Amino acid sequence: MNGFAYHTTSRVAIVTGASKGIGHDIALRLADDGLDVTINSRNLAELEVVAQEIRAKGRRVLPYVGDVSDEEVVKGMVEKTVEVLGRLDVMVANAGTAVVSRVVDMELKDWNYCMNSNLASVMLCYKYAARQMIKQGEGGRILGASSILGKKGGPEVSAYVATKFAIRGLTQCLAIELAPHKITVNTYAPGVILTQMTNVDALDKAYGGTHGAFTKHICGIPPEGPHSSGDTVASLVSYLAKPEAYFITGQSIVMDGGVVMS
Ligand code: NAD
Repeated sequence: MNGFAYHTTSRVAIVTGASKGIGHDIALRLADDGLDVTINSRNLAELEVVAQEIRAKGRRVLPYVGDVSDEEVVKGMVEKTVEVLGRLDVMVANAGTAVVSRVVDMELKDWNYCMNSNLASVMLCYKYAARQMIKQGEGGRILGASSILGKKGGPEVSAYVATKFAIRGLTQCLAIELAPHKITVNTYAPGVILTQMTNVDALDKAYGGTHGAFTKHICGIPPEGPHSSGDTVASLVSYLAKPEAYFITGQSIVMDGGVVMS
């Protein structure tokens, strides 16, 4: 037995950074799976477009604007989700930002910005989701965005890489702490996904390709190497969010076309 209650009401998810890219694809996939969804980003107009897509699937949606590196925003997002959608079963701490700089050129303000946007934000989402799920007493699913750059380093992205390694460590610690509550905690660790984050036109051209070429260079992949859309990530998240995934926790699962194997 997995110890999870199956509800007659819908399960409820929060997806941060959901106005575009991987977060958008995850939010739509969870809606397809029958979950009601709180979608977050810093831009209301963009969120409203995604909200319409989710409503068209017959699911309830709560657009929640705010920067998830701000503790009050994350606390408020979880509280409002419970107030409007009734509960919280799945947290996807997806929002993240890339900072490009060599260590020898690193400005502390850029380093701190990356730590806050990528790492503090995930810790805060984990903290407030865990509190709510413990209170509900019916288990839950917590997911964070790591990367293949959370498994191996690359040039010019040390701040980003440091956060993605740290998210794996944070995830393992929380998975241990929450095991008695039947709450699983995992990360997805994508390779190159064609989103706005990986679309750096001039750098892509400089590294001999189109969209994704610079990111591939950072990851040690040639321009013609593997990439995918956010659908591949959404499929994994869809599975990990399901009650039947109760036996997977503390993991950081790679989907990258075979670049990093473990
Ligand atoms: P993206 O830039 O296309 O979209 C990111 C979204 O997050 C945007 O909606 C942005 O507004 C939002 N966001 C960023 N910081 C935020 C904050 N502090 N508060 C609220 N919203 C915020 O990025 P993406 O490619 O979809 O990446 C999503 C996640 O997956 C990131 O954590 C990224 O590091 C990770 N990732 C991406 C790739 C890739 O190849 N695209 C690979 C590995 C991991």
